[in-house]
Amino acid sequence: MATKNSVMVFVQQDDGIIAEVSIELISKARDLASRVNAPVSAVLMGNELRKAAESLIPYGVDLLYTAEHKGLAHYTPVPYTKVLVEIIKKHSPQIVLYGATTTGRDIAPRIASALRVGLTADCTDLQIGDYKSKGAQFQNVLYQIRPAFGGNIIATIVSPEKKPQMATVREGVMKMSSPDPSFKGQIIAEDVKLGPDDFPSEILERVKEEKSVNLKGAQVIVAGGVGVGSKENFDLILQLAHTLGGEVGASRAAVDAGYVSKDHQVGQTGTTVRPKLYIACGISGSVQHRAGMDESARIIAINTDPEAPIFQIANYGIVGDLKEVIPRFIKAFKAKV
Ligand SMILES: Cc1cc2nc3c(=O)[nH]c(=O)nc-3n(C[C@H](O)[C@H](O)[C@H](O)COP(=O)(O)OP(=O)(O)OC[C@H]3O[C@@H](n4cnc5c(N)ncnc54)[C@H](O)[C@@H]3O)c2cc1C
Repeated sequence: MATKNSVMVFVQQDDGIIAEVSIELISKARDLASRVNAPVSAVLMGNELRKAAESLIPYGVDLLYTAEHKGLAHYTPVPYTKVLVEIIKKHSPQIVLYGATTTGRDIAPRIASALRVGLTADCTDLQIGDYKSKGAQFQNVLYQIRPAFGGNIIATIVSPEKKPQMATVREGVMKMSSPDPSFKGQIIAEDVKLGPDDFPSEILERVKEEKSVNLKGAQVIVAGGVGVGSKENFDLILQLAHTLGGEVGASRAAVDAGYVSKDHQVGQTGTTVRPKLYIACGISGSVQHRAGMDESARIIAINTDPEAPIFQIANYGIVGDLKEVIPRFIKAFKAKV
């Protein structure tokens, strides 16, 4: 198999556990690669990677480059950048994708700068298409699509003249495909040459804070906006979420008002969610909020304003005061079970 011109994914791992966003990106890379008739490649760095590497192939990785070294066990920018730049130079992918995580946002600009190529941050969609500029025609260009100007426009950005074309992609926006155990890919161990000078910083201690909110994995989300009115009233949102066995979401305005912590924020600068049921209470439905939840399977909106934009995307709309509607909701649900 030709190794050049692949669609490459930088895979993030932590203690051998692959970040979900990397699998989402491999799934998207499969789709893009089929359009440009290229293989999917991935780069996995760390220490003792065999198990993690084997777990990635079934998601559709044709070529998995592994870089193993004790000093790569945990992400630090200098050695990771050096190794990834070498791998990209050696295998010349046409596209490289990174999760828009703390690590992805740190390493991707370093790679772009080292290779003198473009980078679009925080994409919410990626497509392949043609591009014409000043008489030049480019084929199979990566359309890097992201909200711009506060989410008021969706910008399509291209960087056709230099390879690789690179983008960071928000977590949760690409759909993760199911693994296919019969998929055959190659694991290729890269030669890692790192010396003491490549480790200007040392990790002395790692403190892990477990996430108390799991919006991404929730099947039911009850979200409150600034229309909830107060931190005390927000208890209604918690009660409904608890009754339905769901997670608590919020608009940014509700977070800014101090009703709930930022971990609960849904939207362009919060978490992107795709639950089976999303109940938006006292949320107007700004483009920035909708960007994070409009792919929910079912949306119920409770709002006093019949003109609220949230009703445009809601499957069921209730025009009313949430302080009256939510207790009735809870009562009705409890009476049914
Ligand atoms: C760059 C940028 C990024 C952003 N990112 C995000 C993001 O990630 N997530 C996000 O949510 N926002 C984001 N925002 C903010 C966004 O523009 C809106 O300001 C925010 O979503 C509004 O929140 P809201 O719907 O709670 O408040 P409002 O727009 O004020 O709406 C409150 C709603 O509550 C209704 N209401 C009032 N009282 C009641 C009641 N008693 N019962 C029922 N309904 C009631 C009102 O009719 C109204 O529709 C971003 C903005 C920018 C510029």
